[in-house]
Amino acid sequence: MRTIFPTEKFREIETPFYYYDVDLLRKTLDEARDEAGKHGNFHVHYAVKANFNPKLLEIIKEAGMGADCVSGGEVRAAMNAGIEPGKIVFAGVGKTDKEIAFSLDAGIFCFNIESVPEVEAIERLAAERGVTARVAIRVNPNIGAHTHSNITTGLAENKFGINYEQLDEVIDIVEKMEHIKLIGLHFHIGSQILVMDDFIALCGRINELQELLLETRGLTLPHINVGGGLGIRYDAPDKYNIPDFELYFSTYAKNLKLQPGQQVHFELGRSIVAQCGSLITRATYIKHGTCKQFIIVDAGMNDLVRPALYEAYHRIENLTSDKADGMYDVVGPICESSDVFCKDRRIPETERGDILAIRSAGAYGEAMAFGYNCRELPKAVLSTEL
Ligand SMILES: *Cc1c(COP(=O)(O)O)cnc(C)c1O
Repeated sequence: MRTIFPTEKFREIETPFYYYDVDLLRKTLDEARDEAGKHGNFHVHYAVKANFNPKLLEIIKEAGMGADCVSGGEVRAAMNAGIEPGKIVFAGVGKTDKEIAFSLDAGIFCFNIESVPEVEAIERLAAERGVTARVAIRVNPNIGAHTHSNITTGLAENKFGINYEQLDEVIDIVEKMEHIKLIGLHFHIGSQILVMDDFIALCGRINELQELLLETRGLTLPHINVGGGLGIRYDAPDKYNIPDFELYFSTYAKNLKLQPGQQVHFELGRSIVAQCGSLITRATYIKHGTCKQFIIVDAGMNDLVRPALYEAYHRIENLTSDKADGMYDVVGPICESSDVFCKDRRIPETERGDILAIRSAGAYGEAMAFGYNCRELPKAVLSTEL
């Protein structure tokens, strides 16, 4: 039986819903801000795609963070939350004219560009408006983060960024454009990274590249954006409820060789919002199969797709049973065999009507929900609303 949740209040609420612990979110934001703040030239942009719930975005904005967006809709969501355009960066391989035009009109800080045709489109749209677009080139550093292959982004085979061999040519092209100002380099190697070695490797690549650009072109750029990717402990959401931001930022401070005046930008998503969110669901039925017992819950893969999409692990707790453990598969109601939250998991003996919490679901949970099987999108409840 867990006491960190207002379980009695949950009984009155229709499930499934996302529950957000606002206190924990605020503490996480304070910690990230304080640790980044120890290094005067570090700036954090929250990766909106992890969770764009407007109420959470407002809390994140209050903490003074900028926003990292991957669509025009996210730029709009960040601005609706009151985040200043001057703190918004926009990445993504497929920015449409409409999204670029909207972001130019809004006056965002920087486009992280991923191809020549893209920067040509930005140049044309900026010229039409008589403005100059600030851009950073997203470089593909060809390093693999030690994480699931579907969330690795920094390998040469991935669709993201510009490869080393093409970089010189791309800089030549960009520097000739009248309405484009090259202000930085951008990197993002992947997500759910827990070993600092991957970030140290990235720093090494950035250092080499900076030296090379200085030597061969006399080029230094004012902004280095190292992306996001700091992981969280899905196995121990209470013990490690706040990620080790001190270690994370000091790793960059120690390993990145900066040139005078350079500013460093971070794009953190998961590490900010994952641990404050849980998907709360009820057991609809307990089904005894021939060799398995299933807890069939009222949440499905459409509410939280990570287990089906990435074989992701989430702790699952029964909030209303303190009986001895049984062995269960926890599954949803969707007509897909992959609609499984966990297999062969020890969970206190569960009855129909019990309330379960699927933990560490604040990032890439509600944001990835969809309506398959004519299901309603999951609702969200903040701790401050109860
Ligand atoms: C998704 C994404 C992030 C955030 O990644 P997290 O692992 O959630 O920190 C940062 N930058 C870019 C470009 C992204 O696509």
